[in-house]
Amino acid sequence: MQAKQKLQHISGLYTAGTLPGMAVNIKGPMMQQETAKYETRLYKEGMAEPGTALLGTPGTNGLWNRDHPACKVLNSLPPGTEQKNTILYAKPAEPYATTIYHLSETAPNRVICPQDSETRMFLQDLPVAEKLDTESVALVLKDKKCVIVPHQGIIAKGGNPAEAYLDFSAACFAGFVKFFSDTLQAARAGELGKKRTQAFSRVCKQLPQPAVFETGLMTGPFETESTVKNAIAETGKKIVKRGLVNACFGNISYRRDDSLYISSSGSFLDELEDDLVMVNIKDGSCTGGKPSSELPTHLEIAASTDFRAVLHGHPLFTVIMSMDCREENCTHQGACHLDCPVPREISAIPIVPGETGGGAFGLNRTVPAAIKKAKAAIVYGHGVFTCASNDFNNALGRMITIERICRRIYFERMGNPHTS
Ligand SMILES: [Zn+2]
Ligand SMILES: [Zn+2]
Repeated sequence: MQAKQKLQHISGLYTAGTLPGMAVNIKGPMMQQETAKYETRLYKEGMAEPGTALLGTPGTNGLWNRDHPACKVLNSLPPGTEQKNTILYAKPAEPYATTIYHLSETAPNRVICPQDSETRMFLQDLPVAEKLDTESVALVLKDKKCVIVPHQGIIAKGGNPAEAYLDFSAACFAGFVKFFSDTLQAARAGELGKKRTQAFSRVCKQLPQPAVFETGLMTGPFETESTVKNAIAETGKKIVKRGLVNACFGNISYRRDDSLYISSSGSFLDELEDDLVMVNIKDGSCTGGKPSSELPTHLEIAASTDFRAVLHGHPLFTVIMSMDCREENCTHQGACHLDCPVPREISAIPIVPGETGGGAFGLNRTVPAAIKKAKAAIVYGHGVFTCASNDFNNALGRMITIERICRRIYFERMGNPHTS
């Protein structure tokens, strides 16, 4: 066996274009495990077409999970373009592929500008490369986290495989939300057009069935630390399985006496067994890591209501409908995600403005008051919080129901209620 083949065999990562005998910095089994983990997630969550993901570190000694002609393009990106070091290139799976490719074909100045909060926080916008070659990709990828290559795939970059995966996932989410939002607006204006109508009907056929209300989660109140942890871990798996949140977005908390147990920052909700932080409500001290960035909102709900269980997810149609505002005279237009004077609701669930964290426009100022009344609050362009008194059964059920209602209302407003 030649030296190079042997290295490849040992590491499972390919060094495309390496000269035989040249010293190569093959990263250890950790890197290999990480790569495999996020590749598997992409397929399992229906984000990328199985077998299409290239994940690795580009450069003259580029290291990839497999060899592919596109590695050559990605390896030859000029220095600076790939300064974040890890690149993920994959074909999005349906229905994401149709939505993102439609947007890429019609984007003014080759930039897609979604208005949801995942984009605002993680991507800013989605530039479109002309084609998959070094020059076209380098031109747009330079200071961006991802690039759409029309009818080929999405290139995402990050400091490690987890970040690249997160950016890819945020791009799929943002494309879906924007396509459906734009289509509703186009329908109202009587400007659907042939191409959009075709894309819309293709996407609708590929939508997964809406999740159905279910019970059967552990019943509370939970009196010991281990039951709290088990209940949170169980609920996290369900919320991901039902497609109510993607990647490591969303968070969960449960209050037991003066302790608030909350998912840690950047944790995957279906892997919470060892990823929980305990926050002392009285003095704010934390045990077990860095808490979710939505901690201020969870703490305020704990302080001002009797609800113990709180869930936060980003269900797609809830986000789409939260932005479907027909108020033409709003003085805050363009900034309604931060602060909007017009009260809105969907099916008696209030829609509130606010941004992640506890700043001047923090969600901790809007969500707790709204949730007190309706046991749920939809956040403009962002997602939904739901809560319940003793355990997560009703909080999960409420989130599923809100997403179903938003999906039904979407198709009613489109004029084809039977598609939902
Ligand atoms: Zn969120
Ligand atoms: Zn407004």
